[in-house]
Amino acid sequence: MDLIDVREVRVAASRAELVFGDHEVPLAGGSWLFSEPQPGVEGLVDLTGLGWEPVVEHPDGGLTIAATCTLERLRKLPHPLFAFAVDALLGSWKIHRFATVGGNICLALPAGPMISLTAALDGVGVIWTADGGERRVPIVSLVTGVRRTDLRHGEVLRAIELPAAAAAARTAVRRISLAELGRSGVFVIARADADGGFVVTVTAATPRPRQWRFAAMPSAEQLATAIDSGVADWYDDAHGAPDWRRAMSLRFAEECRLELLAQP
Ligand SMILES: Cc1cc2nc3c(=O)[nH]c(=O)nc-3n(C[C@H](O)[C@H](O)[C@H](O)COP(=O)(O)OP(=O)(O)OC[C@H]3O[C@@H](n4cnc5c(N)ncnc54)[C@H](O)[C@@H]3O)c2cc1C
Repeated sequence: MDLIDVREVRVAASRAELVFGDHEVPLAGGSWLFSEPQPGVEGLVDLTGLGWEPVVEHPDGGLTIAATCTLERLRKLPHPLFAFAVDALLGSWKIHRFATVGGNICLALPAGPMISLTAALDGVGVIWTADGGERRVPIVSLVTGVRRTDLRHGEVLRAIELPAAAAAARTAVRRISLAELGRSGVFVIARADADGGFVVTVTAATPRPRQWRFAAMPSAEQLATAIDSGVADWYDDAHGAPDWRRAMSLRFAEECRLELLAQP
């Protein structure tokens, strides 16, 4: 789509060039930015010229994923959860080739699968602030609502850090959409950590990611009670009614719990 208000597209080559005018916004893969009118946007600052290494694997097993890492690149990582999350974005290979992990998180749709993935693996967003500084925010709290994040104007998501322990944990995942090729209505990822901890993350069914952490494997009742009493705002849109999203989230969380219990 032609963005008729856009007067300038700058390709940033260094951090010094990441200074945003009042009406300038970051451009990553452009798969959403160019898909609908962007009233008020007069300039785009392309992040893909910054040359960030897409994925850095650390000796301890932790990962740093650049915000500009494409979904196509992410899918090549051996962890099965990565491919599952990429495939949950039901775009063609053309979209996966351009759409970025950071763009998906910053767009902050409830059905953002990169939000699901990185929140579930205790991802921490590295944010470059407008004054040249840096701050870190867990992805689970970086996304604050539908199309809302903790990012201020002029801030850029630089990377997502995944700690080794979470990346190595056993996981179980469930996802459903109303239509066969529809957007996610419920996305649940559970994690069994080596220290015995259990973490369940619900996305798509709620306006923002929701997470419950247990020091040990909870009972079915403990898990259901925690989730049910913790969410008062099951999401309501064309991709699913709140009562369906609640029911499926509870069912999937229990299925994931049983799956992880059954694994050695
Ligand atoms: C067929 C199709 C299916 C889709 N399905 C889904 C889906 O299921 N779920 C979903 O969530 N989306 C979906 N999308 C929307 C979109 O393609 C994805 O969210 C994609 O991951 C966005 O990434 P991008 O790099 O193209 O972002 P862009 O379009 O470049 O940017 C998206 C937004 O994020 C901001 N931004 C980008 N990078 C940064 C950064 N590093 N720091 C700060 N702000 C930044 C931009 O300013 C913009 O506001 C779909 C799109 C298509 C065409």
